[in-house]
Amino acid sequence: MKQRKITLSENEIPEKWYNIVADMPNKPLPPLHPGTKEPIGPDALAPLFPMELIKQEVTPEKWVDIPDEVRHIYSMWRPTPLYRAYGLEKVLDTPAKIYYKYEGVSPSGSHKPNTAVPQAYYNKQEGIKRITTETGAGQWGSALAFACNHFDIECEVYMVRLSYDHKPYRKIMMNTWGAKVFPSPSNATEAGRKILAEDPNTTGSLGIAISEAIERAATNDDTKYALGSVLNHVKLHQTIIGQEAVLQMEKAGDMPDIVIAPFGGGSNFAGLAFPFLRMNLESGEHKIRCIASEPTSCPKLTRGVFRYDFGDTVGMTPLLPMYTLGHNFVPAPIHAGGLRYHGAGVIVSQLLRDKLIEAVAHDNVEVFEAGVTFARAEGIIPAPEATHGIATAIAEANKCKQEGVSRTILFNMCGHGNFDMKAYEDYFAGNIVRHELSTAEIEASLAKLDTPLIE
Ligand SMILES: *Cc1c(COP(=O)(O)O)cnc(C)c1O
Repeated sequence: MKQRKITLSENEIPEKWYNIVADMPNKPLPPLHPGTKEPIGPDALAPLFPMELIKQEVTPEKWVDIPDEVRHIYSMWRPTPLYRAYGLEKVLDTPAKIYYKYEGVSPSGSHKPNTAVPQAYYNKQEGIKRITTETGAGQWGSALAFACNHFDIECEVYMVRLSYDHKPYRKIMMNTWGAKVFPSPSNATEAGRKILAEDPNTTGSLGIAISEAIERAATNDDTKYALGSVLNHVKLHQTIIGQEAVLQMEKAGDMPDIVIAPFGGGSNFAGLAFPFLRMNLESGEHKIRCIASEPTSCPKLTRGVFRYDFGDTVGMTPLLPMYTLGHNFVPAPIHAGGLRYHGAGVIVSQLLRDKLIEAVAHDNVEVFEAGVTFARAEGIIPAPEATHGIATAIAEANKCKQEGVSRTILFNMCGHGNFDMKAYEDYFAGNIVRHELSTAEIEASLAKLDTPLIE
């Protein structure tokens, strides 16, 4: 019988995370102080994050040990399976070999617990009693709720009011793991109360929710803040995915020519791709193409600019060197909520700038077509974010067919869509429409930026 799943045993869970910064030819530029625009050191992050995570954020070391306790919790769902997509290959009638790494087997249904667990662990080590965060669609909030519950840490999630009202089941998931979920803006913070006083009926925004979560952490000694994407330590933790996948591809007697992942802030892309990019960087040969896949309605990698910008909408974070559409950019309300971020993480931005990785964008309708094709061929219903990677994999497989060549394609199936039936309902009802930004819209957003340029 042909083998469909390539699995690893629990003792093959990697013992270290891989830090690609050690192998990058051009290291990321430093973050700048939002006021003085001078480079800032790691201590600027101390009010918000535990020391160990700040160290990981800036470490030049190539390998970082994964604590045994974290590996033990990982073993609840890791190693995750690698699938050969026989069903998808058949419907596409392609000579390509397609594989996918499936992260939807985690308790919250995506790759996000890979970083939520170590973040909760290091906070616990440093005596922190409460972690706050924001969530849009709820994937990150539920991963953090799950992780905090494990370490007996209180978890406070500020959930954008619109999602809070429209996605009640993600909220109940968080409650089940013991988290407190506030519709943002809330009465629990100064920032929230101020906005509510001006507009009691506001639907909220991620920017407001971030301000609330940060305020709680900055004003309480026993409270820290956590982020689910973008930052270096988050990408570091996610490399568990790609390290397992390297072992699994070796077991399958194969190696990918192309590695693909959807792109929001860059964590699941980094997670799968960096351990493969390592082979390129160590050998000095560009053997494996790594492609980040984003929505055409939020195309920071394919149509944004590389310059310093704020990580948040309000402009409170340090200035980071990144591909961005401008921190004021408000993308269309597409269902792939996890991909609606205006910028890209610093490491991934530098890699793209140096042409060590590639990026493509897909339209909203195309990704749902890809998602439904995948669900019918492989059984698993993908999260709306994950459908972007699938669309890129299908496009590459179709190219193989046209050219009459076989290539090996690996993509990240970073989450299931079982809580996203509203998105599929809208698609089947014909309510998902093509959406492409005009050049004028992008230029208008970028014109508002007065942050430092990069030569
Ligand atoms: C959060 C999320 C993303 C986007 O975030 P990245 O940091 O780019 O990975 C993509 N897919 C799923 C399923 C998510 O939950």
